[in-house]
Amino acid sequence: MKQSQLFTKTRREAPKDEVAKNAQLLIRAGYIYKEMAGVYDLLPLGLRTFEKVVGIIREEMNKIGGVEMHLSALQSAEPWQKSGRWSDEAVDAWFKTKLKNGADVGLGFTHEEPLTALMTEQISSYKDLPSYPYQFQTKFRNEERAKSGLMRTREFVMKDLYSFSKDADEHQKFYEKAAEAYARVFERVGLGAVTYKTFASGGSFSKYSHEFQTVCDAGEDVIYIDDATKLALNKEVYDDPEVYKTTGVVKENLREAKAVEVGNIFTLGTRFSEALGLSYKTAEGKSESVFMGSYGIGPARVMAVVAELLSDDKGLVWPEEVAPFRVHLIELQSDNEEVSKEAAELYRELTEAGVEVLWDDRDARAGEKFAESDLLGLPLRVVVSEKTLAAGKFECVERASGHTSHKSISELIGHLTLR
Ligand code: ATP
Ligand code: MG
Repeated sequence: MKQSQLFTKTRREAPKDEVAKNAQLLIRAGYIYKEMAGVYDLLPLGLRTFEKVVGIIREEMNKIGGVEMHLSALQSAEPWQKSGRWSDEAVDAWFKTKLKNGADVGLGFTHEEPLTALMTEQISSYKDLPSYPYQFQTKFRNEERAKSGLMRTREFVMKDLYSFSKDADEHQKFYEKAAEAYARVFERVGLGAVTYKTFASGGSFSKYSHEFQTVCDAGEDVIYIDDATKLALNKEVYDDPEVYKTTGVVKENLREAKAVEVGNIFTLGTRFSEALGLSYKTAEGKSESVFMGSYGIGPARVMAVVAELLSDDKGLVWPEEVAPFRVHLIELQSDNEEVSKEAAELYRELTEAGVEVLWDDRDARAGEKFAESDLLGLPLRVVVSEKTLAAGKFECVERASGHTSHKSISELIGHLTLR
Protein backbone atom coordinates (compact mmCIF):
# COMPACT_ATOMS: atom_id res chain seq x y z
CA MET A 1 0.00 0.00 0.00
CA LYS A 2 1.15 3.51 -0.75
CA GLN A 3 1.23 5.72 2.32
CA SER A 4 -0.19 8.58 0.27
CA GLN A 5 -3.44 6.55 0.12
CA LEU A 6 -3.68 6.33 3.91
CA PHE A 7 -6.08 8.99 5.10
CA THR A 8 -4.90 8.68 8.70
CA LYS A 9 -2.51 11.16 10.24
CA THR A 10 0.01 10.57 12.99
CA ARG A 11 -0.07 13.03 15.85
CA ARG A 12 2.57 14.35 18.21
CA GLU A 13 0.34 14.23 21.30
CA ALA A 14 -2.33 11.80 22.41
CA PRO A 15 -5.68 13.30 23.50
CA LYS A 16 -5.50 14.71 27.06
CA ASP A 17 -8.22 12.42 28.37
CA GLU A 18 -6.48 9.26 27.17
CA VAL A 19 -4.59 7.78 30.11
CA ALA A 20 -3.72 4.29 28.83
CA LYS A 21 -0.31 3.92 27.22
CA ASN A 22 -1.54 1.42 24.62
CA ALA A 23 -4.29 3.75 23.40
CA GLN A 24 -2.00 6.80 23.51
CA LEU A 25 0.48 5.05 21.22
CA LEU A 26 -2.12 3.56 18.91
CA ILE A 27 -3.95 6.89 18.58
CA ARG A 28 -0.73 8.84 17.94
CA ALA A 29 0.31 6.32 15.27
CA GLY A 30 -3.12 6.53 13.61
CA TYR A 31 -4.10 2.91 14.27
CA ILE A 32 -7.26 3.67 16.24
CA TYR A 33 -9.71 6.51 16.86
CA LYS A 34 -11.42 7.17 20.16
CA GLU A 35 -15.20 7.52 19.89
CA MET A 36 -15.75 7.83 23.65
CA ALA A 37 -14.43 6.25 26.85
CA GLY A 38 -14.17 2.52 26.24
CA VAL A 39 -15.15 2.71 22.57
CA TYR A 40 -12.61 2.82 19.74
CA ASP A 41 -12.60 2.52 15.95
CA LEU A 42 -10.01 0.48 14.10
CA LEU A 43 -8.39 2.57 11.34
CA PRO A 44 -6.68 0.87 8.37
CA LEU A 45 -3.37 0.05 10.11
CA GLY A 46 -5.19 -0.94 13.29
CA LEU A 47 -7.53 -3.19 11.37
CA ARG A 48 -4.64 -4.94 9.63
CA THR A 49 -2.91 -5.61 12.97
CA PHE A 50 -6.17 -6.78 14.53
CA GLU A 51 -6.77 -9.11 11.57
CA LYS A 52 -3.28 -10.58 11.99
CA VAL A 53 -4.07 -11.46 15.60
CA VAL A 54 -7.44 -12.87 14.53
CA GLY A 55 -5.71 -14.92 11.80
CA ILE A 56 -3.32 -16.52 14.30
CA ILE A 57 -6.15 -17.39 16.69
CA ARG A 58 -8.26 -18.78 13.82
CA GLU A 59 -5.41 -21.05 12.67
CA GLU A 60 -4.87 -22.40 16.16
CA MET A 61 -8.59 -22.95 16.79
CA ASN A 62 -8.99 -24.76 13.46
CA LYS A 63 -6.03 -27.02 14.37
CA ILE A 64 -7.85 -28.35 17.44
CA GLY A 65 -11.10 -28.98 15.59
CA GLY A 66 -12.82 -25.61 15.96
CA VAL A 67 -15.55 -24.77 13.43
CA GLU A 68 -16.20 -21.10 12.77
CA MET A 69 -19.68 -19.54 12.80
CA HIS A 70 -21.24 -16.22 13.77
CA LEU A 71 -24.10 -15.56 16.17
CA SER A 72 -26.12 -12.36 16.45
CA ALA A 73 -25.33 -9.60 18.91
CA LEU A 74 -29.04 -8.85 19.41
CA GLN A 75 -30.45 -11.34 21.89
CA SER A 76 -33.95 -12.20 23.03
CA ALA A 77 -34.38 -12.46 26.79
CA GLU A 78 -35.74 -16.01 26.83
CA PRO A 79 -32.64 -18.26 26.96
CA TRP A 80 -31.06 -15.91 29.51
CA GLN A 81 -34.14 -16.06 31.69
CA LYS A 82 -33.86 -19.86 31.64
CA SER A 83 -30.25 -19.75 32.82
CA GLY A 84 -30.88 -17.02 35.39
CA ARG A 85 -28.57 -14.48 33.73
CA TRP A 86 -31.10 -11.98 32.38
CA SER A 87 -31.60 -9.84 35.47
CA ASP A 88 -29.38 -6.85 36.15
CA GLU A 89 -28.77 -8.20 39.64
CA ALA A 90 -27.20 -11.36 38.18
CA VAL A 91 -25.27 -9.54 35.40
CA ASP A 92 -24.67 -5.82 35.72
CA ALA A 93 -22.84 -5.43 32.39
CA TRP A 94 -25.94 -5.81 30.18
CA PHE A 95 -26.83 -3.26 27.54
CA LYS A 96 -30.59 -3.74 27.13
CA THR A 97 -33.27 -2.16 25.01
CA LYS A 98 -36.81 -2.89 23.80
CA LEU A 99 -38.38 -3.73 20.45
CA LYS A 100 -41.23 -1.52 19.15
CA ASN A 101 -43.69 -4.13 20.46
CA GLY A 102 -42.24 -3.80 23.94
CA ALA A 103 -40.30 -7.09 23.98
CA ASP A 104 -37.02 -7.06 25.92
CA VAL A 105 -33.79 -7.56 24.00
CA GLY A 106 -30.15 -7.34 25.04
CA LEU A 107 -26.79 -6.99 23.32
CA GLY A 108 -24.89 -10.19 24.08
CA PHE A 109 -22.01 -9.90 26.57
CA THR A 110 -21.17 -13.58 25.90
CA HIS A 111 -22.93 -16.42 24.04
CA GLU A 112 -23.37 -19.54 26.19
CA GLU A 113 -27.15 -19.23 26.32
CA PRO A 114 -28.05 -18.59 22.66
CA LEU A 115 -25.54 -21.16 21.39
CA THR A 116 -26.75 -23.83 23.83
CA ALA A 117 -30.33 -23.13 22.75
CA LEU A 118 -29.30 -23.35 19.09
CA MET A 119 -27.48 -26.64 19.72
CA THR A 120 -30.64 -28.30 21.04
CA GLU A 121 -31.70 -28.50 17.39
CA GLN A 122 -28.31 -29.85 16.21
CA ILE A 123 -27.36 -32.38 18.88
CA SER A 124 -29.52 -35.37 19.74
CA SER A 125 -27.26 -38.42 19.76
CA TYR A 126 -23.78 -39.38 21.05
CA LYS A 127 -22.89 -39.46 17.34
CA ASP A 128 -23.28 -35.67 17.20
CA LEU A 129 -20.58 -35.15 19.85
CA PRO A 130 -18.06 -33.75 20.47
CA SER A 131 -18.45 -30.42 18.72
CA TYR A 132 -16.36 -27.20 18.91
CA PRO A 133 -18.04 -24.15 17.35
CA TYR A 134 -16.38 -20.77 17.68
CA GLN A 135 -16.71 -17.20 16.46
CA PHE A 136 -15.12 -13.77 16.34
CA GLN A 137 -18.07 -11.73 17.43
CA THR A 138 -18.80 -8.33 18.96
CA LYS A 139 -19.68 -8.36 22.66
CA PHE A 140 -21.19 -5.42 24.49
CA ARG A 141 -20.42 -4.87 28.16
CA ASN A 142 -21.31 -1.90 30.25
CA GLU A 143 -17.90 -2.00 31.95
CA GLU A 144 -17.74 0.22 35.00
CA ARG A 145 -14.14 1.29 34.54
CA ALA A 146 -12.89 1.83 31.00
CA LYS A 147 -9.54 3.49 31.52
CA SER A 148 -7.26 0.86 30.03
CA GLY A 149 -7.57 1.82 26.38
CA LEU A 150 -8.10 -1.15 24.06
CA MET A 151 -7.57 -3.56 26.96
CA ARG A 152 -11.04 -2.94 28.39
CA THR A 153 -13.68 -1.59 26.05
CA ARG A 154 -17.46 -1.55 26.16
CA GLU A 155 -17.75 -2.99 22.67
CA PHE A 156 -15.16 -5.57 21.68
CA VAL A 157 -14.67 -8.59 19.49
CA MET A 158 -14.18 -11.83 21.36
CA LYS A 159 -13.05 -15.15 20.01
CA ASP A 160 -15.36 -17.43 21.91
CA LEU A 161 -15.20 -21.16 21.41
CA TYR A 162 -17.58 -23.56 23.14
CA SER A 163 -16.97 -27.26 23.59
CA PHE A 164 -19.83 -29.75 23.65
CA SER A 165 -18.69 -33.14 24.95
CA LYS A 166 -20.30 -36.40 26.04
CA ASP A 167 -18.76 -36.40 29.51
CA ALA A 168 -16.16 -34.90 31.81
CA ASP A 169 -13.39 -37.18 30.45
CA GLU A 170 -13.93 -36.21 26.84
CA HIS A 171 -14.17 -32.59 27.94
CA GLN A 172 -10.90 -32.73 29.85
CA LYS A 173 -8.94 -34.02 26.85
CA PHE A 174 -10.13 -31.10 24.73
CA TYR A 175 -9.57 -28.65 27.57
CA GLU A 176 -5.88 -29.61 27.68
CA LYS A 177 -5.59 -29.25 23.90
CA ALA A 178 -7.20 -25.81 24.09
CA ALA A 179 -4.69 -24.75 26.75
CA GLU A 180 -1.85 -25.80 24.44
CA ALA A 181 -3.41 -23.92 21.52
CA TYR A 182 -3.67 -20.81 23.69
CA ALA A 183 0.01 -21.07 24.63
CA ARG A 184 0.85 -21.22 20.89
CA VAL A 185 -1.30 -18.14 20.19
CA PHE A 186 0.44 -16.04 22.84
CA GLU A 187 3.85 -17.31 21.73
CA ARG A 188 3.13 -16.32 18.11
CA VAL A 189 1.95 -12.80 18.94
CA GLY A 190 5.19 -12.19 20.85
CA LEU A 191 3.91 -12.51 24.42
CA GLY A 192 5.10 -16.08 25.13
CA ALA A 193 7.89 -15.15 27.54
CA VAL A 194 5.65 -13.12 29.84
CA THR A 195 2.33 -15.00 29.63
CA TYR A 196 1.46 -17.55 32.32
CA LYS A 197 -1.18 -20.24 32.52
CA THR A 198 -2.86 -19.16 35.73
CA PHE A 199 -5.13 -21.05 38.12
CA ALA A 200 -8.23 -19.01 38.94
CA SER A 201 -11.56 -19.75 40.60
CA GLY A 202 -13.68 -22.09 38.54
CA GLY A 203 -17.40 -21.89 39.23
CA SER A 204 -19.62 -24.82 40.18
CA PHE A 205 -18.23 -27.59 37.96
CA SER A 206 -14.52 -27.53 38.43
CA LYS A 207 -12.59 -26.12 41.28
CA TYR A 208 -10.39 -24.02 38.95
CA SER A 209 -10.53 -22.31 35.62
CA HIS A 210 -7.41 -21.21 33.76
CA GLU A 211 -6.55 -17.73 32.70
CA PHE A 212 -3.69 -16.73 30.46
CA GLN A 213 -2.17 -13.75 32.21
CA THR A 214 0.45 -11.47 30.68
CA VAL A 215 2.70 -9.63 33.12
CA CYS A 216 2.16 -5.91 32.56
CA ASP A 217 2.19 -2.91 34.91
CA ALA A 218 -1.04 -1.65 33.37
CA GLY A 219 -2.78 -4.91 34.30
CA GLU A 220 -5.74 -4.93 36.67
CA ASP A 221 -5.10 -8.43 38.03
CA VAL A 222 -2.56 -9.65 40.57
CA ILE A 223 -0.98 -13.05 40.00
CA TYR A 224 1.65 -15.14 41.80
CA ILE A 225 4.20 -16.72 39.49
CA ASP A 226 6.19 -19.91 39.98
CA ASP A 227 9.21 -19.53 37.70
CA ALA A 228 10.17 -23.20 37.96
CA THR A 229 6.92 -24.52 36.45
CA LYS A 230 5.89 -21.34 34.58
CA LEU A 231 2.50 -21.64 36.29
CA ALA A 232 0.78 -18.85 38.18
CA LEU A 233 -2.04 -18.43 40.68
CA ASN A 234 -4.60 -15.66 40.53
CA LYS A 235 -4.81 -13.70 43.78
CA GLU A 236 -8.34 -15.10 44.25
CA VAL A 237 -6.97 -18.63 44.88
CA TYR A 238 -3.65 -17.67 46.52
CA ASP A 239 -4.89 -18.47 50.02
CA ASP A 240 -6.53 -21.76 49.07
CA PRO A 241 -4.38 -24.62 50.47
CA GLU A 242 -5.81 -27.06 47.90
CA VAL A 243 -4.37 -25.16 44.94
CA TYR A 244 -0.87 -26.01 46.17
CA LYS A 245 -1.73 -29.72 46.27
CA THR A 246 -3.23 -29.55 42.78
CA THR A 247 -0.38 -27.63 41.16
CA GLY A 248 2.60 -28.76 43.21
CA VAL A 249 3.84 -25.17 43.42
CA VAL A 250 5.37 -23.96 46.67
CA LYS A 251 3.86 -20.81 48.13
CA GLU A 252 7.23 -19.47 49.34
CA ASN A 253 8.64 -19.59 45.80
CA LEU A 254 5.97 -17.40 44.24
CA ARG A 255 6.56 -13.85 43.11
CA GLU A 256 3.79 -11.29 42.81
CA ALA A 257 3.11 -9.40 39.57
CA LYS A 258 0.47 -7.24 37.97
CA ALA A 259 -1.01 -8.86 34.90
CA VAL A 260 -3.65 -8.64 32.17
CA GLU A 261 -5.92 -11.58 31.39
CA VAL A 262 -5.49 -12.11 27.64
CA GLY A 263 -7.52 -15.32 27.49
CA ASN A 264 -9.30 -17.88 29.59
CA ILE A 265 -10.64 -21.41 29.48
CA PHE A 266 -13.50 -22.56 31.61
CA THR A 267 -15.25 -25.82 32.45
CA LEU A 268 -18.99 -25.14 32.38
CA GLY A 269 -20.13 -28.72 32.96
CA THR A 270 -23.90 -29.10 32.59
CA ARG A 271 -24.82 -25.67 34.02
CA PHE A 272 -26.16 -24.38 30.68
CA SER A 273 -27.15 -27.65 29.03
CA GLU A 274 -29.44 -28.48 31.98
CA ALA A 275 -30.98 -25.01 32.08
CA LEU A 276 -31.67 -24.99 28.34
CA GLY A 277 -32.46 -28.67 27.81
CA LEU A 278 -29.44 -29.71 25.74
CA SER A 279 -29.17 -33.48 26.07
CA TYR A 280 -28.21 -36.44 23.91
CA LYS A 281 -28.96 -40.17 23.73
CA THR A 282 -26.08 -42.50 24.62
CA ALA A 283 -25.37 -45.69 22.64
CA GLU A 284 -27.50 -47.48 25.24
CA GLY A 285 -30.41 -45.10 24.64
CA LYS A 286 -30.05 -43.21 27.91
CA SER A 287 -30.55 -39.44 27.99
CA GLU A 288 -27.57 -37.39 29.27
CA SER A 289 -26.85 -33.66 29.56
CA VAL A 290 -24.12 -32.39 27.27
CA PHE A 291 -20.89 -31.44 29.10
CA MET A 292 -19.67 -27.97 28.12
CA GLY A 293 -16.68 -25.64 28.26
CA SER A 294 -15.98 -22.11 27.07
CA TYR A 295 -12.77 -20.54 25.78
CA GLY A 296 -12.33 -16.78 25.25
CA ILE A 297 -9.67 -14.46 23.84
CA GLY A 298 -9.99 -10.72 23.11
CA PRO A 299 -7.87 -10.01 19.99
CA ALA A 300 -7.91 -6.24 20.55
CA ARG A 301 -6.84 -6.68 24.16
CA VAL A 302 -3.98 -8.87 22.90
CA MET A 303 -3.04 -6.18 20.39
CA ALA A 304 -3.11 -3.56 23.15
CA VAL A 305 -0.83 -5.62 25.40
CA VAL A 306 1.64 -6.14 22.54
CA ALA A 307 1.58 -2.38 21.84
CA GLU A 308 2.08 -1.57 25.49
CA LEU A 309 4.85 -4.09 26.27
CA LEU A 310 6.91 -4.16 23.09
CA SER A 311 7.00 -0.43 22.34
CA ASP A 312 9.90 1.92 23.11
CA ASP A 313 10.31 5.68 23.52
CA LYS A 314 10.07 6.19 19.75
CA GLY A 315 6.83 4.31 19.27
CA LEU A 316 5.31 0.94 18.45
CA VAL A 317 7.44 -2.16 17.78
CA TRP A 318 5.40 -4.95 16.17
CA PRO A 319 6.60 -8.55 16.03
CA GLU A 320 6.54 -9.84 12.44
CA GLU A 321 3.45 -12.02 12.82
CA VAL A 322 1.21 -9.16 13.93
CA ALA A 323 2.70 -6.16 12.10
CA PRO A 324 0.25 -4.50 9.68
CA PHE A 325 3.02 -4.62 7.05
CA ARG A 326 6.37 -6.39 7.15
CA VAL A 327 8.36 -3.66 5.40
CA HIS A 328 8.26 0.12 5.58
CA LEU A 329 9.73 1.32 2.30
CA ILE A 330 10.94 4.88 2.72
CA GLU A 331 11.57 6.87 -0.39
CA LEU A 332 13.70 10.00 0.12
CA GLN A 333 14.27 12.85 -2.36
CA SER A 334 11.12 12.02 -4.31
CA ASP A 335 11.90 14.87 -6.70
CA ASN A 336 14.70 12.71 -8.11
CA GLU A 337 12.99 10.62 -10.78
CA GLU A 338 15.59 7.84 -10.53
CA VAL A 339 14.88 7.41 -6.81
CA SER A 340 11.12 7.23 -7.40
CA LYS A 341 11.60 4.70 -10.19
CA GLU A 342 13.84 2.56 -7.98
CA ALA A 343 11.33 2.69 -5.11
CA ALA A 344 8.50 1.69 -7.44
CA GLU A 345 10.54 -1.22 -8.78
CA LEU A 346 11.42 -2.42 -5.29
CA TYR A 347 7.78 -2.11 -4.19
CA ARG A 348 6.67 -4.17 -7.19
CA GLU A 349 9.25 -6.91 -6.66
CA LEU A 350 8.64 -7.23 -2.92
CA THR A 351 4.88 -7.32 -3.40
CA GLU A 352 5.24 -9.98 -6.10
CA ALA A 353 7.40 -12.01 -3.70
CA GLY A 354 4.50 -11.95 -1.24
CA VAL A 355 6.00 -9.40 1.16
CA GLU A 356 3.56 -6.85 2.59
CA VAL A 357 4.96 -3.36 2.08
CA LEU A 358 3.87 0.08 3.18
CA TRP A 359 5.52 2.49 0.74
CA ASP A 360 6.11 6.00 2.02
CA ASP A 361 5.84 7.72 -1.34
CA ARG A 362 4.97 11.12 0.14
CA ASP A 363 6.91 14.30 -0.30
CA ALA A 364 8.33 15.01 3.17
CA ARG A 365 11.62 15.59 4.95
CA ALA A 366 13.78 12.58 5.84
CA GLY A 367 13.69 13.32 9.58
CA GLU A 368 9.93 13.50 9.56
CA LYS A 369 9.62 10.24 7.61
CA PHE A 370 11.98 8.39 9.94
CA ALA A 371 10.29 9.64 13.12
CA GLU A 372 6.91 8.62 11.73
CA SER A 373 8.28 5.27 10.64
CA ASP A 374 9.56 4.64 14.18
CA LEU A 375 6.15 5.51 15.57
CA LEU A 376 4.34 3.11 13.19
CA GLY A 377 6.70 0.30 14.23
CA LEU A 378 6.92 -1.95 11.16
CA PRO A 379 9.60 -4.65 11.57
CA LEU A 380 11.96 -3.64 8.72
CA ARG A 381 12.63 -0.20 7.28
CA VAL A 382 14.13 -0.12 3.78
CA VAL A 383 15.44 3.23 2.56
CA VAL A 384 15.74 4.26 -1.08
CA SER A 385 17.63 7.51 -1.64
CA GLU A 386 20.22 9.10 -3.92
CA LYS A 387 22.85 7.63 -1.61
CA THR A 388 21.54 4.06 -1.75
CA LEU A 389 21.08 4.41 -5.52
CA ALA A 390 24.77 5.29 -5.91
CA ALA A 391 25.79 2.38 -3.68
CA GLY A 392 23.53 -0.12 -5.46
CA LYS A 393 22.31 -1.34 -2.06
CA PHE A 394 19.37 -0.34 0.11
CA GLU A 395 19.72 0.59 3.74
CA CYS A 396 17.77 -1.87 5.90
CA VAL A 397 17.05 -1.12 9.56
CA GLU A 398 15.34 -3.54 11.92
CA ARG A 399 12.88 -1.66 14.12
CA ALA A 400 13.26 -3.85 17.21
CA SER A 401 17.07 -4.08 17.41
CA GLY A 402 18.12 -1.06 15.36
CA HIS A 403 20.42 -3.43 13.44
CA THR A 404 21.40 -1.87 10.10
CA SER A 405 22.57 -3.64 6.95
CA HIS A 406 22.91 -2.88 3.24
CA LYS A 407 21.30 -5.22 0.77
CA SER A 408 20.79 -5.48 -2.99
CA ILE A 409 17.28 -6.17 -4.26
CA SER A 410 17.94 -9.91 -4.58
CA GLU A 411 19.60 -10.13 -1.18
CA LEU A 412 16.65 -8.33 0.36
CA ILE A 413 14.07 -10.59 -1.26
CA GLY A 414 16.13 -13.63 -0.30
CA HIS A 415 16.23 -12.40 3.31
CA LEU A 416 12.51 -11.67 3.47
CA THR A 417 11.31 -14.89 1.88
CA LEU A 418 13.65 -17.14 3.85
CA ARG A 419 11.58 -19.20 6.28
P1 ATP B 1 -11.82 -9.33 32.91
O1 ATP B 1 -11.67 -10.04 34.22
O2 ATP B 1 -10.57 -8.73 32.41
O3 ATP B 1 -12.99 -8.40 32.89
P2 ATP B 1 -13.45 -11.42 31.91
O4 ATP B 1 -13.26 -12.48 32.91
O5 ATP B 1 -14.66 -10.56 31.99
O6 ATP B 1 -12.14 -10.47 31.85
P3 ATP B 1 -14.23 -13.11 29.74
O7 ATP B 1 -15.63 -12.76 29.89
O8 ATP B 1 -13.83 -14.47 30.10
O9 ATP B 1 -13.29 -12.05 30.48
O10 ATP B 1 -13.75 -12.80 28.26
C1 ATP B 1 -12.79 -13.58 27.55
C2 ATP B 1 -11.69 -12.69 27.02
O11 ATP B 1 -12.21 -11.54 26.36
C3 ATP B 1 -10.77 -12.11 28.08
O12 ATP B 1 -9.78 -13.05 28.42
C4 ATP B 1 -10.21 -10.90 27.40
O13 ATP B 1 -9.14 -11.25 26.52
C5 ATP B 1 -11.37 -10.43 26.55
N1 ATP B 1 -12.12 -9.34 27.19
C6 ATP B 1 -12.96 -9.42 28.25
N2 ATP B 1 -13.51 -8.23 28.55
C7 ATP B 1 -13.00 -7.36 27.65
C8 ATP B 1 -13.18 -5.96 27.42
N3 ATP B 1 -14.01 -5.24 28.17
N4 ATP B 1 -12.50 -5.37 26.41
C9 ATP B 1 -11.66 -6.10 25.63
N5 ATP B 1 -11.45 -7.42 25.78
C10 ATP B 1 -12.11 -8.05 26.77
MG1 MG C 1 -14.99 -8.75 32.86
